[in-house]
Amino acid sequence: MTNLHFASALLPSGWADDVRVVVADGIVVKLVVGVAPEAHDERHHLAIPGIASLHSHAFQRGMAGLAETRGNMADTFWTWRETMYRFALEMTPEDVESVATLLYVEMLERGYTRVGEFHYLHHDRDGTPYANVAEMATRIAQAAENAGIGLTLLPSFYAHSSFGGAAPHAGQRRFICSIDQFASLVDASRNAIRTLGGANIGIAPHSLRAVTPNELAAIVPMAHGAPIHIHAAEQVREVEDCVAWSGQRPVEWLLEHAPVDQRWCLIHATHATPTEVASLASRGAVAGLCPVTEASLGDGIFPARDFVDAGGRFGVGTDSNVLVGVTDELRQLEYGQRLKHRERNVLSGGSGSSTGRALLDGVLAGGAQALAQTGAGIQQGARADIVSLDITHPSLAGRCGDAILDGWIFAAGGTAIDCVWAGGHKLVAGGHHRLRERARAQFNATVRRLLA
Ligand SMILES: [Zn+2]
Repeated sequence: MTNLHFASALLPSGWADDVRVVVADGIVVKLVVGVAPEAHDERHHLAIPGIASLHSHAFQRGMAGLAETRGNMADTFWTWRETMYRFALEMTPEDVESVATLLYVEMLERGYTRVGEFHYLHHDRDGTPYANVAEMATRIAQAAENAGIGLTLLPSFYAHSSFGGAAPHAGQRRFICSIDQFASLVDASRNAIRTLGGANIGIAPHSLRAVTPNELAAIVPMAHGAPIHIHAAEQVREVEDCVAWSGQRPVEWLLEHAPVDQRWCLIHATHATPTEVASLASRGAVAGLCPVTEASLGDGIFPARDFVDAGGRFGVGTDSNVLVGVTDELRQLEYGQRLKHRERNVLSGGSGSSTGRALLDGVLAGGAQALAQTGAGIQQGARADIVSLDITHPSLAGRCGDAILDGWIFAAGGTAIDCVWAGGHKLVAGGHHRLRERARAQFNATVRRLLA
């Protein structure tokens, strides 16, 4: 049993003063507002809910910043992808665990208490399945356990190099499964997270590039009601190739041919038309936005204003993990819209409303839906995923309520995080995860070897 007391906390009902939170077995079992701290309560100034990174490829943290030298030709997503493939082809299961552990430590330090791991690096370096087909998924689960982050494991089905069932490239050999292999992989992945507190599983058909319609129809039922995540319309070339193959754009195709509903999360959906935006919003699916990665890769800017105006649900993911932080994603999301529309406070939801609050509320709800978490936010019955902010940070001075969120997201950034609890465990104190030094040392040794 842990007893926490916050002078101020952002609850689902709004800001409240003098909030006492009792945690047992990782869950908030009691929450009382307007009470003084009791003798043995751990006291903090200000609490906000932990956020989910709903889309991550953990191994890519190892190559963060390594694709920032311009290539010979137009430097696009596709040249970045070649670098990523070369990196992915070298990593052992131990390397993946080491890189993912540091990543999840950093996520916790930067305000994420859960990760949706869209996991497609399955097989040995020559493409042969490991003796345990879910060896790599087991390493991801171990990394989540090491760091203490909540895990939603999303094993990815990947079979082709382009639309219409094109044969995979040699560089994709570690990703490729048959439908039967994938069924075994999902079962083994379920087993890999069985004893991991707060973990759950979904499935992730990689994209319409990598999965044929028949394969999609065969694997969607394997979700058994759990989340289904798929990349869609990230790149203009992908949209053009999809139109050449089917006469339809990726989001359009999915909305017409797949049972897209509240269980689904379309990752990126960057190049969605107004019609697609309205339909996606009406289906109740989540748009899994990854603003930092989308900017890094030059993908484009999602029509977030129109989507939000249509009632669309959205969450954020760190995707390539080139830079990890709740504030970084939210700031980039809003700034992309400002640059596009040449206005300020585009996603605030209306005059007089705080942009930071609207963004945080949006991604809290969207992230929870996309990763099948009930009861998002700090409330009785929910997982105790809590972030406390350092109110002595200059960018938070003199603020209260939503102005703190605006100061945090747009001015202070990740450095204003003090403590983080995930599943009731206090993992970060004074901005430092308790595993930081060890995780960095292992990660650095791994990456030095991979780059040697
Ligand atoms: Zn992705």
